[in-house]
Amino acid sequence: MAELLDGRAIAKELKEEIKLEIAKWKEKGVESKLAVILVGDDPASVIYAKSKQRVAEDMGIAFDLFAMPGDTLEIAVLDLIDCLNNDMEFHGIMIELPLPKHISKEKIMAAVRPEKDVDGGHPINRGYILSGEEGLFPATPLSCIELLLRSGVEISGKHVVIVGRGETVGKPLVFLMLKHNATVTICHSRTVDLGSFTRQADILISAVGKINLITEDMVKPGAVVVDAGINETANGICGDVDFEKVKEIAGRISPVPGGVGALTTVLIMRNVLKGITLQGGC
Ligand code: NAP
Repeated sequence: MAELLDGRAIAKELKEEIKLEIAKWKEKGVESKLAVILVGDDPASVIYAKSKQRVAEDMGIAFDLFAMPGDTLEIAVLDLIDCLNNDMEFHGIMIELPLPKHISKEKIMAAVRPEKDVDGGHPINRGYILSGEEGLFPATPLSCIELLLRSGVEISGKHVVIVGRGETVGKPLVFLMLKHNATVTICHSRTVDLGSFTRQADILISAVGKINLITEDMVKPGAVVVDAGINETANGICGDVDFEKVKEIAGRISPVPGGVGALTTVLIMRNVLKGITLQGGC
C-alpha cells in the first residue's frame, strides 16, 4: 500500500519557516501585508478569500480584503489595483478568480505590479517561469514541487507525466519540473489513449478536475501519484484519482483533501515575502 504524501504536515513545517522570516522582516521595520480583491459573490471565491485571511493573520501577515459588487466596472478594479501597486504598505496583491464575465482577466492580471503578483499571473512572471529566471510563480504548481521534495521524492531524472494543461496548474508545472531536471510529458483532453502515457510515469500528476479520471490500471506499480484536482461532491471535496484503488498500486500518493491543496495558501504567503525582497525590502 502506498505511503501518503502528507500536505498538512509539510504545510505546518513551511508555516514555521515563513513565520521566522516574517519576524526577521518585522525586526527590520517591514510589516508584510497582502491585499485580496474579490469581485462578486462566487461562493467558492468567498471561502478561498476568507481562508487566505485566516492563514495570513495566523502567520503574522496583515490582510485587507477588497470586496467589490459583481457589477463593478473593469476600470474601477484597475483603479484599485493602481492604488495598491503604488501603496508601499502592500507587498502582495491577489485577485480571486473567476472574475465576472464583463471584466477581462488578462487585463486585470497584467495590471498588477509583477513584484506584488503573488499568484504569478502577470505576463512577466509567466515569462520568468518559462526562462527559468526568478519571479513570482503560481502557488499550486509550487505546492506540487514542495510536496514531492519535502517528502524526499527525487524529481531530477524522473519521467513526470502531467495530466491537464490549464494555465493555473498544468502548464506552469511543466516549466518548474524542467527546472528540476525532470523529463516531462503533458497530456490533455485531446490525448489519445491517456493510460499509455500515465503508465510510463515515475511521477504522475493530475490537474484536471474530473472525479476518478485516474484509475489503477493507468498507474505504474510503485509510481508517485500527486493529485492536484479538486472536485466538489455531496460528501466534501475529492481529487481526480480513484484514491482507494490507486493507493494499492502506487508507491506514494497524495490525498485530497490533505495533499497539494493544504500547501497552496501557505505558498501564497511565501510569495508575499518573496515579493518584499523583489520590491527592494521595504
Ligand atoms: P483548467 O484550466 O480547466 O484545465 C483543465 C485541464 O484538464 C485542461 O488542460 C483540459 O484539457 C484537461 N482535461 C479535461 N478533461 C480531460 C480528460 N478527460 N483527460 C485529460 N485531460 C483532460 O483547470 P486548472 O485551473 O488548471 O485546474 C485543474 C484542477 O486543479 C482543477 O480541479 C482545479 O480545481 C484544481 N486546482 C487545485 C488547486 C489546489 O490548491 N489544489 C488550485 C487551483 C486549481 P484541454 O486543455 O484539452 O481542455
